[in-house]
Amino acid sequence: MTTYNPVTETFLAQLRDIVGVDGVSTAESERNLHAADMSSHPPHLCDAVVWPTTGAQVAAVLRLANAHGVPVTPWGVGSSLEGNPIPLYGGISLSTERMQGIVAVHADDFQVTVQPGIGYKDLNKKLAAYGLFFPPDPGANATIGGMLANNASGIRTVKYGASKDNVLRMEVALADGRLIHVGSRSIKQSSGYDLLHLFIGSEGTLGVITEATLKLTPIPALMSAVVASFVDVETAVTAVVAIKGTGLDLAALDFIDGSTAAMLTQENGVDIPAQPTLLMEFHATHAETIELGLEMVREICVEMGATRIQATADPTERQRIWHARHQTYETKLRLNPGISWMPMDVAVPITAYPALVVFAEQEMAAKGVSGFLIGHAGDGNMHFTLAYQDKESHERAKEVNTAVIRRAVDLGGTATGEHGVGIGKAPLMPYEHGLALDVMRQIKQTLDPNSILNPGKIFPKL
Ligand SMILES: Cc1cc2nc3c(=O)[nH]c(=O)nc-3n(C[C@H](O)[C@H](O)[C@H](O)COP(=O)(O)OP(=O)(O)OC[C@H]3O[C@@H](n4cnc5c(N)ncnc54)[C@H](O)[C@@H]3O)c2cc1C
Repeated sequence: MTTYNPVTETFLAQLRDIVGVDGVSTAESERNLHAADMSSHPPHLCDAVVWPTTGAQVAAVLRLANAHGVPVTPWGVGSSLEGNPIPLYGGISLSTERMQGIVAVHADDFQVTVQPGIGYKDLNKKLAAYGLFFPPDPGANATIGGMLANNASGIRTVKYGASKDNVLRMEVALADGRLIHVGSRSIKQSSGYDLLHLFIGSEGTLGVITEATLKLTPIPALMSAVVASFVDVETAVTAVVAIKGTGLDLAALDFIDGSTAAMLTQENGVDIPAQPTLLMEFHATHAETIELGLEMVREICVEMGATRIQATADPTERQRIWHARHQTYETKLRLNPGISWMPMDVAVPITAYPALVVFAEQEMAAKGVSGFLIGHAGDGNMHFTLAYQDKESHERAKEVNTAVIRRAVDLGGTATGEHGVGIGKAPLMPYEHGLALDVMRQIKQTLDPNSILNPGKIFPKL
């Protein structure tokens, strides 16, 4: 096992030389703020929080930390759900909070170049002036760096892709202090190894993203939301497969279970019956395209036994529905004090989705674990979120989680569709990747031989 060196006064002085006196803090309050993400993985304190402002500063911090054997864990806003930015081995929490600049808007190329600390919601507010937006939308005001590092996605990934599909070029600081550029601003690129995508989803274990050029999309002229309620979960998720099978170009196709629908109606100002529900959205330039899509979806949902179908083109109503959907996790937390939640995040090919949902329900019933089901169903991405309150129920929830992950992999899917591996999924990586995990270790060893970058993540303990 790698051993790390403590952060000394001399080391702190050298850090201050790089980022300035107010760019380093060892205050307990700051270290506490960077000790835990939004998951229930136990917090761990770093020794110092560092706020660089430029790529060159990030590179210099890494060079110094590498020379001294001090771990560095990048930090966006800590909205991860698998312990991804928790500084497990102490050392430095490297925050990108002071790197929120928009470097250039290439509006005619539908591109923007940004520093990594900008929140995607803040970015989209600024891009609205150009009639453009960055489509991946994980909900919390996640940073671009955190989204690229986790390969985050969201409700609109079914049409616009995940973070990996919406990035063209990045500047990355490596563990040894080199600052490299990967990818290009060209939409088409086939030049050499695809290093750009090597860093996407690497969770800060291979390098720190210090700048990114993102692909943008014109804000759609017309948007329409559809809410379809079903008698049971199985019927609703089978309808998902049928809707996808039509080849309809939906911009969102999410599932929420009956208890979640009831909670959102009670707490978040929407009117959704307490039944398993599909939330959908269409984007188009012409009203006829939307009408046609709505008609087809209506027909399929009726055929599949939907009990109520509501469609709205009213922007306020549409935003209220998605805002409520995005509030699900926080609302559950608020309404259930004393309960901890373990979010599952498996994804499978769409035709396997119903089988996976049924399997998860059976496992939960067998182990006496309760929870709620939401998911980006159109992507085959399922989030059963499991409740636990003590050590014993935590163990049972972990057993369910493990069984469902294995089942997802057996069905041709993956242990994580969007939250990343972090701490929670690391033990399952050999099951999913087999020998390919050895290749990942070799890549890690090549780029970060002293294992200073976000140690303890992605790979199970040896
Ligand atoms: C209520 C709620 C709903 C969510 N819904 C979704 C969802 O629908 N889809 C989804 O994908 N996720 C979702 N998430 C998870 C989370 O928002 C995303 O994973 C997000 O991308 C994390 O961004 P962040 O800025 O908070 O990064 P952090 O959590 O701070 O960091 C994420 C990881 O990236 C690394 N990192 C951060 N910045 C950099 C950088 N510049 N260079 C290299 N590595 C870096 C960190 O070390 C860490 O490993 C949700 C979270 C919450 C709380």
